Amino acid sequence: MKLKTSYFYTLRENAKDEESISGNLLTRSSMIKKTSSGVYMYLPLGYKVIKNIEKIIREEMEEIDAGELLMPALVPEEIYQATGRKEAFGNDMFNLKDRSDKKYCLAPTHEELFTIAAASKVKSYKDLPFSIYQIQDKFRDEARSRYGLIRVREFLMKDAYSFDMDEKGLNDSYNNMYNAYKKIFTRLGINYKIVKSDTGAMGGLLSEEFQAITDIGEDKLVICDHCGYAANSEVAKCSVLTLKTDEEIKIRELVKTPSAGTIKEVSNFLEEDESKFVKTLIYKIDDKYYAVLVKGDNEVNEAKLKRLLKASEVNLASQDEVEEITGAKVGFAGPIGLDIPIILDNEVMNMKNFIVGANKTDYHYKNVNLEDFNYYLVDDVRCITNKDCCPNCGEELTFKNGIEIGNTFKLGLKYSESLGLYYLNKENENIPVWMGCYGIGIGRCMAAVVEQNHDDKGIIWPVEIAPFKVAIVVVNTLDEAQMDAANYLYENLRKIGISTILDDRDERAGVKFNDMDLIGIPIRITVGNKIKDQIVEIKQRRKNEFEDISLYDAILKVEDILDGE
Ligand SMILES: [Zn+2]
Repeated sequence: MKLKTSYFYTLRENAKDEESISGNLLTRSSMIKKTSSGVYMYLPLGYKVIKNIEKIIREEMEEIDAGELLMPALVPEEIYQATGRKEAFGNDMFNLKDRSDKKYCLAPTHEELFTIAAASKVKSYKDLPFSIYQIQDKFRDEARSRYGLIRVREFLMKDAYSFDMDEKGLNDSYNNMYNAYKKIFTRLGINYKIVKSDTGAMGGLLSEEFQAITDIGEDKLVICDHCGYAANSEVAKCSVLTLKTDEEIKIRELVKTPSAGTIKEVSNFLEEDESKFVKTLIYKIDDKYYAVLVKGDNEVNEAKLKRLLKASEVNLASQDEVEEITGAKVGFAGPIGLDIPIILDNEVMNMKNFIVGANKTDYHYKNVNLEDFNYYLVDDVRCITNKDCCPNCGEELTFKNGIEIGNTFKLGLKYSESLGLYYLNKENENIPVWMGCYGIGIGRCMAAVVEQNHDDKGIIWPVEIAPFKVAIVVVNTLDEAQMDAANYLYENLRKIGISTILDDRDERAGVKFNDMDLIGIPIRITVGNKIKDQIVEIKQRRKNEFEDISLYDAILKVEDILDGE
């Protein structure tokens, strides 16, 4: 690519509405451009990176014999109704109608269509197993798009699906895909962890996430360096930290706590420690209301609640709803006298003489005990904290942020049963097919690589996915000898299949160096004054060393460097 006549620009200033490093650097280097909230253009340089990521994915899918196809993005809504996922996706789904008022959506994911496609092939056990995949845009109407390519509303995804006769077959297919994913992310140069996660809107038996470890990741990961335990904090099991006390049960007291609605305010007012409080939160879970009680210094884990109640939607009740249910202002809810089901966190079970809201504005109860109210369920429904230790080995945990770049699900029979994907076994019985599904967020991979590989000058692409491997910078484009040498290198590098940029723009050398650093090309060859002695300079983006080398050895040197990567 000769820059003078190519679509290419750089921005010196930081992009105004990009709060992440990757969003900013990718925008400044004309790899991407935002068109609207959570929707981006992939510009020529950025699209090269995408194509390189896709190439790695395709090679590894070929290795495990997964066949590539392409599904439509426009899908009749009724297909998602059959599996209950119209509700599960809720407002996250982009809905639209055609001219005859038939309802469609822009597919948020494709389990349903893949199941339907599989049904055309599968008649008997002889037709199984197999895996198929696509690389295609997905659409989700995220409430909050952010972090550049990390949380977007239209995103490029690779999604694969496996089809097997039984659970053992599914386990084998899952392991094949899992190992292929490990290879893919290693080749992409991403530092990642595999964590157990919530099966969420996919449903199914087991789900694991591939998480790129970064500072800005939206997922909170819990990692034990001692035993290797790693989980998304949404599912990380909490141990019970509150020990049983032999404290005597005291008499319950209604106390006035005027305009003290937060735990801090009430604890100051009552001169009681915050650990004596139990919070009561009113939730609307699907269409029912629940009160959830956790110790005052804990937070409710909504993902755990969702799983516990097998619910699709978990939301805090609105202020009006809370007032209606408790008869008091927000901040004074408590379990006594409530007529909605109460869910207790494990931690509350060992507490005695605690403080709760009295369902009466400006009042709390002191010395409340479990005997004072009925409860519906007791479980682990709180968020893990840095006071918790590893649920596996009891050692200290570390907390990291992660970007979910891939996931693998054992779906089991959910989709085959609801969409009628059955096969005849040897005994001529009709048996549902066992399915797995496996995703990779391609734009997210690109963003994760940048988050993990940059410096104050710009991006540092790993060689395998860099948009170009070599950049030739001509210091003075008016100097014929320099241009001849640069063209010689450019033609010969391209001849042996090494993708190369020729920076032949009429710009100062400093501007060109900065631009090549910003866009992160792994190897730079500078053709300047020394060309009169047939000398050029080679520099790697990752290193700070410059090396003078004969023009005629430069190509061998480039090959050497690339071989070593
Ligand atoms: Zn551990």
